[in-house]
Amino acid sequence: MALVSPELEAQAIAWRRHLHAHPELSFEEVETSRFVEEALASLDGYELERPTPTSVVARLTGGRPGRTLALRADMDALPIQEESGVDFASTRPGVMHACGHDGHTAMLLATAKLLSERRDRLSGEARLVFQHAEEKPPGGARELVEAGVMDGVDLVVGCHLISRLEVGKIGVGAGPRMACADTFTLEVVGSGGHAGFPQTSTDPVAIAAEVVVNLQHVVSRTTNPFDPVVVSVTQIAGGTADNVVPDRVELGGTVRAFTQESRERTRLTVERIVAGVTQAHGATYRLDYEQGYAPVVNDADAAELVKAAATAELGEDAVADQERIMAGEDFSAYQQVVPGVFFTAGARNEAIGASYPHHHPRFAIDEAALRNGIAVLARTAIDYLA
Ligand SMILES: [Zn+2]
Ligand SMILES: [Zn+2]
Repeated sequence: MALVSPELEAQAIAWRRHLHAHPELSFEEVETSRFVEEALASLDGYELERPTPTSVVARLTGGRPGRTLALRADMDALPIQEESGVDFASTRPGVMHACGHDGHTAMLLATAKLLSERRDRLSGEARLVFQHAEEKPPGGARELVEAGVMDGVDLVVGCHLISRLEVGKIGVGAGPRMACADTFTLEVVGSGGHAGFPQTSTDPVAIAAEVVVNLQHVVSRTTNPFDPVVVSVTQIAGGTADNVVPDRVELGGTVRAFTQESRERTRLTVERIVAGVTQAHGATYRLDYEQGYAPVVNDADAAELVKAAATAELGEDAVADQERIMAGEDFSAYQQVVPGVFFTAGARNEAIGASYPHHHPRFAIDEAALRNGIAVLARTAIDYLA
């Protein structure tokens, strides 16, 4: 028999729509976390905890000792004015659930209900983590790890609804699946002067241009073609007049990579090029290189577990190879301390307009995706804690 009854699916959709209409920004999930806490309090067997002001952790202890499985949902929305046209659209100007985190929260609440009803047959502990602030670095996951939420956890599982994948499909795979997203700002410092006397100044515009050109070599000449890396210079600014050589130029950009090794190697190469090019032309520089979220790297055994759960609940045809994407996710903060798997639940349905990218004002999901996500999360937990 299917795990997810029509009643539970309807309940999950109702929860999701309530959350969708009342989105809150990262670190400000006051009403959302209260809503989650109240819904969990109505279920049997959960011990509730508030590790940070806007997160909720619920522990369910099974009938026998055993392993501890953490399931994670993120709850925050984005600073976007919604244009989706749904009748449960955001009631808060300029704030929108445009990444599907409302669905993640609803799916985990529904999973909580399913596990609560089966707790006597479970061993060990199911730890449900309703996380704040995924969208805003340094991110809520890191705070929860520091608060001890992963202590004693053997495996952590998370799911992202995704509008790039057809509804009905579950994307899962081992190894690196999402990139790290580091950023840098660079100031090239020369010395300004009269544009008609180039010999009296050190021109940071020409040197900045050399830096941009030379940074193209990081990916094309120093990186293994089978190891995806992105280095993009996305900002450049300097100068005030056509007859003045400015004394500084500012640049900014981002670096994406799938492994800690290529991430670290890329950082060192960027620094070396910036130092070498500026020094060669007699300029100096100031480089701020900021580490964003680490790459999402799925444990191979855990990926198999999710694959088996998806096959059991939705059939073999539902399982798709998980697309690797150059976006970041702070789920990786959990994977830094315990093995984990982050899978995707397809939510795309072009016929109903659910095909816009995440973070778009018209982002929408096919709500049939919720049932699938709940089934895979709950089946994974039930099997792991059997
Ligand atoms: Zn997002
Ligand atoms: Zn997201």
